[in-house]
Amino acid sequence: MGKPGSGMSVPTKTPALRLRIGAVAETRVRGGHPWVFAESVRKQNRPGKTGELAVIFDRKNQFLAAGLFDSDSPIRVRVLHRGKPQPIDAAWWRRHLEEALARRAGLFDESTTGYRCVNGENDGWPGLVLDRYDTTLVLKLYTAAWLPRLAEVVELLAGKGDRVVLRLSRNIAEAAREQFDRGDGEVLRGGALDGPVVFRESGLRFEADVLRGQKTGFFLDQRENRRNVEGLADGRGVLNLFSYSGGFSLYAARGGAASVCSVDISRPALAGMERNFALNGDVPSVARCPREAIQADAFAWLREAAARRFDLIVLDPPSLAKRETERAEAMRAYAGLMKGAMERLNRNGILVAASCSAHVPAEDFFQLARETAGKTGRAFEEMRLTGHAADHAATYPEGEYLKCVYLRLT
Ligand code: SAH
Repeated sequence: MGKPGSGMSVPTKTPALRLRIGAVAETRVRGGHPWVFAESVRKQNRPGKTGELAVIFDRKNQFLAAGLFDSDSPIRVRVLHRGKPQPIDAAWWRRHLEEALARRAGLFDESTTGYRCVNGENDGWPGLVLDRYDTTLVLKLYTAAWLPRLAEVVELLAGKGDRVVLRLSRNIAEAAREQFDRGDGEVLRGGALDGPVVFRESGLRFEADVLRGQKTGFFLDQRENRRNVEGLADGRGVLNLFSYSGGFSLYAARGGAASVCSVDISRPALAGMERNFALNGDVPSVARCPREAIQADAFAWLREAAARRFDLIVLDPPSLAKRETERAEAMRAYAGLMKGAMERLNRNGILVAASCSAHVPAEDFFQLARETAGKTGRAFEEMRLTGHAADHAATYPEGEYLKCVYLRLT
């Protein structure tokens, strides 16, 4: 390998990468961006293996960053550390975990036992998410680079929870099975589990289907919007479109909603909602709130239920733009959903519209909501715009995905 600069002792076996001169990659990494793409690598001392530590040198042969090598992804290195060279040893990993946990210190009390502990790239743990549900930790991996390090990671989590459940993104499930004999939903440490885990969020009880549910079992990222909806719900007829297991529905009910109608295409999600209502039967406003669960395609239902009217509508569809090329189509779909929802709003009704598509910029989404409201011919007030909660903070542009707009239509 070439001469490592700045006195950094790099074990001779470590893959060392040099970036293309003049490319923006170096500036981006220096500025804190966590990804180095294969196309910006000019030279490499030897082929790397997925999961190995790799070191990146700048144009002056100085240490730039160290990260996880991934031979199977266009993101060739995911940065773990930049700045002064440091050995990435057991003590470094422990510190790195404690730093992420410290960022959540004081955010939650015992009324919220489900939250994100490690938010991937945004916390310096690229491609790795760690969520807590009561005493169960859910480790979700989005890159195969963590698979050879699983034992180490689980070891690091000792004492942080009673159980560790492994979840795998679809793109790495096959590699996990074939090369590491690991499966999605496997319990890596702690007692076996055959169903959901119950946790608390803002004092409400919810099930998280940590073994099979979407994401890590619950949409923890919407907690603050759910709290806002609770504050707006009193006396209102509420429609929760794309309800999943009824997160917004429960908060609306506790907030004194006159009724809550939840629509989702998934029968298991709606069954989960019924169980969540049952879990909170001791909350009087939840117990007495009339509710309706409708299994339907929300796009079709909005068209068919033309005569229905509500005072508060929550619109929280799944990501409609999974890639950049789908953005225009997604914008059309959002516009259709917003229009359909606005037409179903009573006088002074409120629309809470969220998007979790990373490829739809927040300002475009907000502008779309304003334009769609403008076209209804009704005057409207923009009540609030929201983004990422503190346990889901985004620290690089691609890490930002969640945005939500609150509009009141007169
Ligand atoms: N608001 C929820 C999260 C919504 S996730 C919460 O706070 O927990 C998106 C949901 O949309 C999923 O439950 C999925 O089953 C549902 N979904 C996907 N496509 C749909 C469609 N065409 N019509 C209705 N629901 C759909």
